[in-house]
Amino acid sequence: MKISVLDKGWVELQDLLGDDLAIVNAARVSYLGASKGAARDRKLLRYLYEHDHGTPFEMVVFKFRVKAPEVVFRQWVRHRIGSFNVQSRRYTEVEDDDLYTPDGWRLQDTENKQGSKDTLDAESSTLLARELARIYAECAAQYRRALALGVAREQARLFLPGFAVYSTFIWAVNARSLMNFLRLRLDQRAQWEIRQYAQAVWTIFREKLPWTAEIFAEKEQIAWD
Ligand SMILES: Cc1cc2nc3c(=O)[nH]c(=O)nc-3n(C[C@H](O)[C@H](O)[C@H](O)COP(=O)(O)OP(=O)(O)OC[C@H]3O[C@@H](n4cnc5c(N)ncnc54)[C@H](O)[C@@H]3O)c2cc1C
Repeated sequence: MKISVLDKGWVELQDLLGDDLAIVNAARVSYLGASKGAARDRKLLRYLYEHDHGTPFEMVVFKFRVKAPEVVFRQWVRHRIGSFNVQSRRYTEVEDDDLYTPDGWRLQDTENKQGSKDTLDAESSTLLARELARIYAECAAQYRRALALGVAREQARLFLPGFAVYSTFIWAVNARSLMNFLRLRLDQRAQWEIRQYAQAVWTIFREKLPWTAEIFAEKEQIAWD
């Protein structure tokens, strides 16, 4: 399952350990029980969530492969409960089109210092888009020039616009930590770009853990679509 995000990114589910029932069965190990049918299993899941009985949710582990620009990755990697392996730009060259180009420009929110709202007018947007494309082309050309001179990849990348560079990473995360990620990164206060990735992760989560997702969405007031 692979979902496109932004202009060149994606989120792909690579592996999954467990399902809704694995959470239920982990909780019932307390008294060596197992599934008691869908209705009672769902009721138990709800009880676990409502009473912060978190560890059964850790029995399910998702492994995602993600392609995201640095501006998103540096926020994502702040989620410490999970494991990351990241493409190294010391090993691999950045391709010319490995740079994020937004499809519009948001204005600074005057109330929320971290946020944005509304969009720049069409004429200014076109000018900025053109300027960004020019700068990206110049950066890419300088990067290639440095590589052609034999400069190491680890240093040649100084010519690149760091926040914009796409990389691929693997993220293994348990369902408990993943719900924390979703709660924080689907929120309107999170940056729009990472919200798009969280939305893709949420789509996969809903499909794979539908019972848990339903309770989580209800309790945390997360939109279903
Ligand atoms: C809208 C928004 C704005 C943000 N702005 C900033 C910012 O300006 N600057 C900035 O530096 N960060 C910022 N962050 C990052 C934020 O502070 C968290 O680092 C990030 O969201 C990860 O959340 P987390 O710690 O809950 O997740 P994880 O690191 O995955 O941790 C999951 C949970 O494990 C527990 N935990 C993990 N590590 C510890 C620990 N060392 N001690 C105790 N409990 C622990 C906590 O209960 C935590 O909620 C922002 C995040 C959001 C969503």
